[in-house]
Amino acid sequence: MERISYSYDPVTLAMPLAERIKRRALETGALPEADDVRDILRELGLEELYTGKGLALHRNRHLVTLLFPREALIVDVIPSSGELSDAVEVIAYHDRELGAFVVEIVPANDLEYEGNIGLEPAIIDEKTLELKSSPVFGHFEEGKDGLHLVIDVETYERWRESGKLNTCPICGGELAWRGREAFCPECGYGVKVKD
Ligand SMILES: [Zn+2]
Repeated sequence: MERISYSYDPVTLAMPLAERIKRRALETGALPEADDVRDILRELGLEELYTGKGLALHRNRHLVTLLFPREALIVDVIPSSGELSDAVEVIAYHDRELGAFVVEIVPANDLEYEGNIGLEPAIIDEKTLELKSSPVFGHFEEGKDGLHLVIDVETYERWRESGKLNTCPICGGELAWRGREAFCPECGYGVKVKD
């Protein structure tokens, strides 16, 4: 089991949530049900405060999440300070035209950062269950040099092949690599590749 790091910014929860939804779709050929997502949120250390009427509410010390299971699964991740400008949204849906399951993280405030957090949505072919894109999702771990995003080798290889290795998957800034570790001077997060 990966170590569950303490969640601070919304992105530190959105990333492992998107990663787990992606893995679930790759393994089972379906998106998780709302109840499965509630389980994932609890596994990620959140407490369930409310569920019912098409909505579930979870929180930890720093974050609040709102799960809306509709046509698509939507999880809004909001700082408990109420700073909505930092909020992000994890969206997972079955795109019938594309014939694929899509998992993406988008910032609530797209004025500052256009596009996807994680660089690309996860696009999973509904028939072959192959990943058709190069999303950079992972989980966060705390080290002496602060919180960093941990990704697996497969994610790293796909990212390298996509040619976007110098773009920070968290803020879109420019990453500086040293071996298998990178640091983003803009958002302050690091990235580490682990087997
Ligand atoms: Zn960054």
